Amino acid sequence: MYIACILQFCYLSIIRMILNREPRIASILPAMDPAEPESRTVMHICVLEVRRTAADYAASRQLTFSDAYINSHCSNQLLTSSSLSVTRSTMALNLQGFPLPTLDRLGASLSPDVDAKAIASEWFSSFSACVEASDVEGVVHLFMSESYWRDILALTWDFRTFTGVNNIKEFLKDRLSISQLKAFKLRDEFLGIQRPFPDLVWISFMFDFEVGNTGIASGIGRLVPQADGSWKANCIFTNLEELKEYPEKVGFLRNLEPNHGLWAAQRQREIAFEDKEPTVLIIGGGQGGLEIAARLKMYDIPTLIAEKNSRIGDSWRNRYKALCLHDPVWYDHLAYLPFPPNWPAYSPAAKLAGWLEYYAEAMELNVWTSCEVVKSVRNEENNTWAVTLQFADGKERIFNNIKHLIFATGLSGNQPNMPSYPGKDLFKGQILHSSEHSLASDHIGKKVVVVGACTSAHDIASDYYLNGVDVTMYQRSSTYIMSTKHGWEVLFSNLYAEGALPTDIADRVSASFPLGFAAHGFAQRSTQLIAEKDKTLLEDLRKRGFKLNMGIDGTGFGLLAWTKASGYYLDVGASQMIIDGKIKLKNDSQLQSFTETGLKFEDGSEIPADVVVFATGFSDARLLIRKICGDDVANKCSPVWGLNEEGEIHGSWKDMKIPGLWYAMGNLAMDRFHSKHIALQIKAMEEKKFGPRYSLRVSS
Ligand SMILES: Cc1cc2nc3c(=O)[nH]c(=O)nc-3n(C[C@H](O)[C@H](O)[C@H](O)COP(=O)(O)OP(=O)(O)OC[C@H]3O[C@@H](n4cnc5c(N)ncnc54)[C@H](O)[C@@H]3O)c2cc1C
Repeated sequence: MYIACILQFCYLSIIRMILNREPRIASILPAMDPAEPESRTVMHICVLEVRRTAADYAASRQLTFSDAYINSHCSNQLLTSSSLSVTRSTMALNLQGFPLPTLDRLGASLSPDVDAKAIASEWFSSFSACVEASDVEGVVHLFMSESYWRDILALTWDFRTFTGVNNIKEFLKDRLSISQLKAFKLRDEFLGIQRPFPDLVWISFMFDFEVGNTGIASGIGRLVPQADGSWKANCIFTNLEELKEYPEKVGFLRNLEPNHGLWAAQRQREIAFEDKEPTVLIIGGGQGGLEIAARLKMYDIPTLIAEKNSRIGDSWRNRYKALCLHDPVWYDHLAYLPFPPNWPAYSPAAKLAGWLEYYAEAMELNVWTSCEVVKSVRNEENNTWAVTLQFADGKERIFNNIKHLIFATGLSGNQPNMPSYPGKDLFKGQILHSSEHSLASDHIGKKVVVVGACTSAHDIASDYYLNGVDVTMYQRSSTYIMSTKHGWEVLFSNLYAEGALPTDIADRVSASFPLGFAAHGFAQRSTQLIAEKDKTLLEDLRKRGFKLNMGIDGTGFGLLAWTKASGYYLDVGASQMIIDGKIKLKNDSQLQSFTETGLKFEDGSEIPADVVVFATGFSDARLLIRKICGDDVANKCSPVWGLNEEGEIHGSWKDMKIPGLWYAMGNLAMDRFHSKHIALQIKAMEEKKFGPRYSLRVSS
């Protein structure tokens, strides 16, 4: 009580400060009651807003709460009160970026007869001339001061985003002349003017270039109009595509020889690794491991996948049986082998599992199933790994000279996050993590509580309801909800949809938006648009008492996915079941303990349960690295997932701070795109064409 009073006093003091500084924020505050959790959350936002206005803000480098954010969260009828319950922890982002380059902000206008091709060509010829001459001043003159350059491997051998013309300048000073970029070509296709919002316009174009004698790369640029009528770069994305001397063995470079009767035995020998060792050992045969193996095969790098399950695809097959992908087929294609044109938009997990098995076969990947990697010891002298593999029958095989060990062991290494509550031993029912749950029909006639309110919790709860099981969802904190239909329409319908861009182009366009750009207005606007389309759904959920948020700083789905890989549900029907009371909801008090017959909450309320399913996500991926490689490696390696201050994902597909150690964690789209980046790095290392990396100076 005493602490609550102090907190309340602090909040009120802060509000007083804000009232003095920021009249527009002040206008939203009278309705706030510091005793209400939702109001407290708004006040957290305001606390951070005060930091923004403080003179030392720039040094503090906290994410700004933009005008769009305050407007979207505080003045929109739909998003008042309970939908504002964005938790403080999800707000602790530290991303650099600038407000959107709207026409208004730029003081620019758009002439109706603008010739996008002429403008892009003129800008591009100056850009390529300056770049080829290593004229850093000349290059940065073509950029706005509030601009971004994202590079994947082409100039940095790393994943880097440089924000602001000063950082771009530093980067170019360090890397431009040594990279020896040349042979720039502007592509005619995919060039044009785009107007994602009425006040936001850019000319977008793609280009190709070479990186010295080493690489072939591509780029995407976006130019925005300036007050003086010129166009300057707001964003450039550069991406390494190939190694010049080592092209992928596809198309004309495929095996052209007929093979009469020898193929089966050759494949057997290749898979057996009887008298040789693989250069690369991939732990895990989900889509992540399979696609990297396929990419490495194109580079002739001997690779083996060890998969502890008995069949490829089991990682999907063994999940709850109701699982169906939440994103559509156009987003999910695998590298080299797109789904056939009659593939359903949303793949049931079991169908996807079958496709992965087929993929391994069709791509001639070397896979050992029922084979667990149990130990890996690093030899620091020659940077290799001694890896112990154990088969289901107890037999072992040890490889002593693995040069690259790739953990493709899934979402956080598939290590369940199981919160612990007192009284677990008293409880007479069954406790499961969502990864252990299989069939709703196993629990017919029982009372089930699903702990959690994100994707798995919704899928599992709706499956229970459809199987006639009495099910309650216990929501611990607020959730970001968007309907798949409207979310996809707003976010991806120009990229990943029937008749939209080719998948490889869509992947590059998608990667060309730095997360710092998205987090400072663009994602908030898209999220707002989705929320307006989902207005009825969200209002009905709110009326039902379901706690909603708008994602981190109002950015919706994307930043939650890239920072936490959780916190959202892309609605495919379960939300309506909650609204209708078909899935019961409990979220008015924190879970305190188990009882013999159910769960007890802090306010003294209880709910009966025979089965409690914890849909509480997964833990730190490094747990599995620790288990297999030991403490020393786990302590030194970088985190996996979450964003560094440039908005780049930690660990996955890149330097893990331990030579020869890699992690691949992503969804289907990311695995498709970034499997190539791991393969390129490994091939370049093997051929002594790699580096040096240009890595973030502060430790991440
Ligand atoms: C419920 C759920 C729904 C999801 N829905 C979507 C979706 O709609 N769209 C999307 O794109 N993504 C989705 N994802 C995310 C992601 O695509 C999946 O988690 C996907 O399975 C990740 O593929 P992966 O290859 O990285 O890992 P996994 O598929 O998890 O494969 C890892 C493999 O590693 C093996 N393994 C682990 N340890 C060892 C060891 N020591 N030795 C040998 N083998 C080992 C495991 O047996 C497993 O087969 C979902 C994830 C979950 C959990």
